[in-house]
Amino acid sequence: MLVVQKFGGSSVKDAEHVLNVARIVTDTYKEGNDVVVVVSAQGDTTDDLIEKAEEINPRGSKREMDMLLSAGEQISISLLAMAIDSLGFPAISLLGWQAGFETNSKYSTARIKRVNPERIRAELDKKRIVVVAGFQGLNKYDDITTLGRGGSDTSAVAIAAAMRADLCQIYTDVEGVYTADPRKVSGARKLEEITYNEMLEMATSGAQVLNNRSVEMAKKYNVEMEVLSSLKRVAGTKVKEVTKVEKMLIKGVAKDDSVARVAIVGMPDNPGIAFKVFSRVAKAHICVDNILQSIGRDGTKDIAFTVPAKDAEDAVAALKEYAEAVGAKDLVCEKDVSKISIVGAGMETHENVAAGMFEALADANINIQTISSSEIRVSVLVDKKDGDRAVEAVHRHFFGE
Ligand code: ADP
Ligand code: ASP
Ligand code: MG
Repeated sequence: MLVVQKFGGSSVKDAEHVLNVARIVTDTYKEGNDVVVVVSAQGDTTDDLIEKAEEINPRGSKREMDMLLSAGEQISISLLAMAIDSLGFPAISLLGWQAGFETNSKYSTARIKRVNPERIRAELDKKRIVVVAGFQGLNKYDDITTLGRGGSDTSAVAIAAAMRADLCQIYTDVEGVYTADPRKVSGARKLEEITYNEMLEMATSGAQVLNNRSVEMAKKYNVEMEVLSSLKRVAGTKVKEVTKVEKMLIKGVAKDDSVARVAIVGMPDNPGIAFKVFSRVAKAHICVDNILQSIGRDGTKDIAFTVPAKDAEDAVAALKEYAEAVGAKDLVCEKDVSKISIVGAGMETHENVAAGMFEALADANINIQTISSSEIRVSVLVDKKDGDRAVEAVHRHFFGE
């Protein structure tokens, strides 16, 4: 079998953890498998590097930032290769470009265009364990790019897809995918399995256990993923196209604190207003969600929506001139909000799921600002101060204590 194993920052944070990973990897190798390992930077290395850059130049170029951040993974691949060697097994470390990762040129959020796995294959043929730096690639100018935070998950899936691996295992610091963040919600339960679509909605709604792009790619190329613990050798969570029928209305609750709510108040109630507002936001390359438009009254209406918090200022800037031109009463941006989502394919066939979420929030006396939904997700926006309580209340409603 060809197995791709990815280890996140907490799984390689110090010498002891690196040696622990080396043991997992070599055990898989000893069973007769070809093993490609993808690793992230150790512990908080990436955050520390960002801090170093900010001390020197808070507006450093994105190219230089990628050059800097890619260094984190270079440290962990070489240390892991040395750890594997110390256990008496052959290993070689490869940077993203050596492993054939070609990306577009969007520094800091580059997309993988292609993985050319020739070198990896040649090393596997020499019976080596191949240790690849996650999170990085090379663009057409031969410059180093990074894939966005949490991007090592995507690196692992990309290799698994390109090499048609039998399995892609994502090792982390919890035992799998849970019904809510197990570090925050005491009653959270581990899921045996979850579909790509459900996992994609969970990841996009704030469950950072998997990067959403990695799930998108796994779905596209039908890569079977498993999320499991690097510290405890127990079964994890399988992520796949179809799961066995379970009587679960929803699979989980997620919270995203990195959103902001933008509202334009008192605009004329004319045709074409929504188009004019959202085309301006789209032109600034900002994704919107949770759109709410009020019923027109006295010839005016309001539009509110959420954007990623990092884009809030840009969204307001994109709308300022227009809001003034049409005589809107106010253009406001609120950052103290949390988006709470429930996710599950069960809601396609059960109509009372959303109501259950609203009931739980009402019982906890938490006010809902806006609501949005997809086929398998319902999201609400609440005050940030109510965020944790909201997750607890909604989780308790669906999963009990
Ligand atoms: P890694 O360094 O291994 O990539 P991450 O910190 O990116 O690890 O992701 C693992 C973390 O995701 C867990 O420690 C957990 O707190 C958090 N998490 C959030 N939501 C969930 C969930 N639904 N199931 C499991 N973990 C979750
Ligand atoms: N080291 C990168 C980060 O911290 C990539 C990753 O961990 O997946 O975001
Ligand atoms: Mg991660």
